[in-house]
Amino acid sequence: MVEKFSDALAEVRRTNPKFFLADASEFPEAPPPVCADCRDLGFVPADAEGRMKPCVCADRKRQQVFQAALDEIFPIYSTRGFSFETYRPETDSQRAALRLCQDFVEDYPPEKGILLAGGTGLGKTCLLYLALRGALVHTVFNFERFKTTMLFSRIRSTFNSDKPGRETEYDIIRRLVAVDVLVLDDLGVEKAGEWADGILYTILDGRLEKRRPTLASTNLTGETLDQKLGHRLASRKHDLFNVVEMAGADRRVPKSVHNPASP
Ligand SMILES: [Zn+2]
Repeated sequence: MVEKFSDALAEVRRTNPKFFLADASEFPEAPPPVCADCRDLGFVPADAEGRMKPCVCADRKRQQVFQAALDEIFPIYSTRGFSFETYRPETDSQRAALRLCQDFVEDYPPEKGILLAGGTGLGKTCLLYLALRGALVHTVFNFERFKTTMLFSRIRSTFNSDKPGRETEYDIIRRLVAVDVLVLDDLGVEKAGEWADGILYTILDGRLEKRRPTLASTNLTGETLDQKLGHRLASRKHDLFNVVEMAGADRRVPKSVHNPASP
């Protein structure tokens, strides 16, 4: 009978030498930490009482992750080097839209979201992309982008599934209310009906209440927009958003096409 634990160990070592791991000195050295400030902990001392604060490297990592997510939902904008400086406003309304998106970044989180209205090619989506990208340096932790029609079909698709654990209408609404920044393209593109108007209202109103901004665009303006948005949403439009109706020529078309008489 083995009387002592050390004797038991010695016995195991003698009869089965492979049972023990190699000597600690045989392990390779751990690679040196990437961040010399926090030794890759992600936190550094904030004061003499031992409180900690996030290290700059953690913030840099966070931004890399978000930039990758941003590239995924705005694929054509990420590679083209857009910035507020490269957007050249050609009309007063374009200048107002630019100012609004810059303020969004500077004053994040803002009182309300942004709705940019106007024809195609005015740079609406680009400006909203820049506003979201700029807000990433603040406390934005998550964001989503939906074409409004896609949002409705996504919600409708939940009605036909009986699978356990399936996504429900409520799940989607709750998620879109909770996300830090929501981008909605083509608001009011179809007359969606009372059901869809109600869903959209619930999401936008829930977000406003929690002061989570929505960045939206639409090709419609004036009365047409209000009709397509539905009464309830149209009447609260200015509570939910700072609205700019953008005027001007399609920026993607060469000027000579619009004004062949110009030199
Ligand atoms: Zn660090």
